[in-house]
Amino acid sequence: MSVPDYISPIIGYRVWQWVAAGLKSLNGEPWFPGKPLAAACRASNRRTTVGRAEAAHDANDAPQEKCRCGVYASKSLEHLHTTGYERYGICGEVNLWGTVVEHEQGFRAQFAYPQNLYLPLKMLPSTLAEIQSRLQALTLYGSDIFVLGNGETISLWAKDAGYSPAGLDYLIERSKQYHDRRRRNRTLKKGDRVAILGRGIAVVEYVDSKWIQAVVWNKTSLRIARQEIVWDERNMRWETDANAACECLMQPTQ
Ligand SMILES: [Zn+2]
Repeated sequence: MSVPDYISPIIGYRVWQWVAAGLKSLNGEPWFPGKPLAAACRASNRRTTVGRAEAAHDANDAPQEKCRCGVYASKSLEHLHTTGYERYGICGEVNLWGTVVEHEQGFRAQFAYPQNLYLPLKMLPSTLAEIQSRLQALTLYGSDIFVLGNGETISLWAKDAGYSPAGLDYLIERSKQYHDRRRRNRTLKKGDRVAILGRGIAVVEYVDSKWIQAVVWNKTSLRIARQEIVWDERNMRWETDANAACECLMQPTQ
């Protein structure tokens, strides 16, 4: 699918829902791979309920200047950000052509098709297999696909080149870190360090299913309920609150 050669499309910005079958407008309208979305006016259907012929016109002759029909797009990513639409899905550039009505912040177009798609990292599944199956439907659109990593934009898939090695490396590394973290997360063991917030780092000396015993720098031994200790993803360490640790005169259980 491409914009007809003799046309220079207008570029706008949109947010789509990313569902298993591909892309949908936020209002639920599906976008099909290889097929431009064509505007159709629904004002004529509203006539009876509104009670007056509000800008009624031929449904396929859309958009009209004095109506609200057309495929919507913003003029800037900034606008999608400030209006909050951004968080409802994936952003991208969209080609607009045919009749295009311009507004202060955006456009209403007769035809539209995604030019590229920017996937927020948090919307990607954690494992490679899941990512691959989710992406399969998206690649059918032939729009370039990018991943918005931590402050960087990484090319993931391009119409002419397929998957990019850099993009795949990035996802493989991310998936590996995810598995490593999960593995670490499952077991708290002797020798691990626990950050006791407001108190310092303690070294685990003993763990059972309910309690751990840990020693802080001055050799004070602390008893902490196992369930009070959590793996902190951002700090990449075990953490607990100072009041979860009791300086009990605990007899070593082992
Ligand atoms: Zn209309």
